[in-house]
Amino acid sequence: MSHTQHPGIGEPGGRTLSSEEHIELARTRSAHNYAPLPVVIAEGRGAWVTDVEGRRYLDCLAGYSAMNFGHGNPDLLAAAHRQLDRVTLTSRAFHNDRFGPWVAALADLAGKERVLPMNTGAEAVETAVKVARKWAYEVKGVPDGEATIIVAGGNFHGRTTTIVSFSSDSEARDGFGPYTPGFRTVPYGDARAVEEAVDATTAAVLVEPVQGEAGVIVPPQDYLPRIREVCDRERVLFIADEVQSGLGRTGTVRACEHSGVVPDAYLFGKALGGGILPVSAMVADEDVLGVLRPGQHGSTFGGNPLAGAVGHAVTTMLAEGPYLENARRLGELLDRRLKELVGDGVVAARSIGLWAGVDVDPALGTGKELCLRLAEHGVLAKDTHGPTVRLSPPLVISEEDLDWGLDRFAEVLDELRER
Ligand code: PLP
Repeated sequence: MSHTQHPGIGEPGGRTLSSEEHIELARTRSAHNYAPLPVVIAEGRGAWVTDVEGRRYLDCLAGYSAMNFGHGNPDLLAAAHRQLDRVTLTSRAFHNDRFGPWVAALADLAGKERVLPMNTGAEAVETAVKVARKWAYEVKGVPDGEATIIVAGGNFHGRTTTIVSFSSDSEARDGFGPYTPGFRTVPYGDARAVEEAVDATTAAVLVEPVQGEAGVIVPPQDYLPRIREVCDRERVLFIADEVQSGLGRTGTVRACEHSGVVPDAYLFGKALGGGILPVSAMVADEDVLGVLRPGQHGSTFGGNPLAGAVGHAVTTMLAEGPYLENARRLGELLDRRLKELVGDGVVAARSIGLWAGVDVDPALGTGKELCLRLAEHGVLAKDTHGPTVRLSPPLVISEEDLDWGLDRFAEVLDELRER
């Protein structure tokens, strides 16, 4: 197969490409597994990014919450730079001097005993599936090969073949079978349905405390506490996927804190790598993670020293920094201003902390159309499903910038109404 060469691109002294040229290269030379907005980002600082032509945009997606601490966060960059000059990868064949202090700090932050570090969010979920099954066979006494895990409809836990096997999103799932068995799906927010789905084979209930990709769906206040009760009563592990909801996004380290619930395991990802590298983890007590022995699970990159340095800095920043407070304080502003738009181009607005799902009136256009217009006005956001737009700016955004972004949001709704 032949393809056009692009001499000089990406090399020192090479020609600078325009946005259009970058987009064309991506269109013709990358797989179409995403449909990005036509913005080519070249730099980022705090809550702002700049494209290759120098246009500035307020980033109200923050890498799906991977950039909770903002672009180019000086504390995270310093931690990464220091570590880059020391050692970056050892594999877990040896110890490294970043690993122990980091996992201890992360376990303490989550109020658990142990950490199993991986890289992507999907790997943390896969880890939890494996651990839950092993726990079911070795501790609970489920017959080998029969363990089941209860999941929620509308979930998003990643893109591996096992994870899409229990997705209810046909785009994510269709055409990728044969599917991994062993999952039961019940409606999200319905604790009674969880209770009814539990039987002697149930190893775990796996849920997002707030469903992000589904459109920032906040479940009823008693949902997580009732799942906790069922899991205690039926001897089932409660696993909270906090990959998107955790690490500050909702104004708390764990979104589960909002309902006072302590699950058996937390899954963290995204912001754990500070937007610098992929870092994820399953965090649980010894009675859960203790089922794994050497050789049964792992990753070449999981727990590498660079991840440890950045992950430890993230952990410290969450424990000591202003991020949680910012998310809470600015979250109130976000909530108030979005609620003002309900009935005025917005059908519904849900929010928790600095995280909102906004259902745009379908008469005005789709979520994607709104996002395209927002980009023209200098605000980056992402549609989730059909009419829904998700807003999740970095937790370092200023009140003034958030207000400015929400003014643009209202302006775009006006424009759509008038066309
Ligand atoms: N779990 C949740 C709740 C997520 O929102 C995501 C990604 O959006 C994942 C898991 C998967 O993370 P990753 O894309 O890093 O594999």
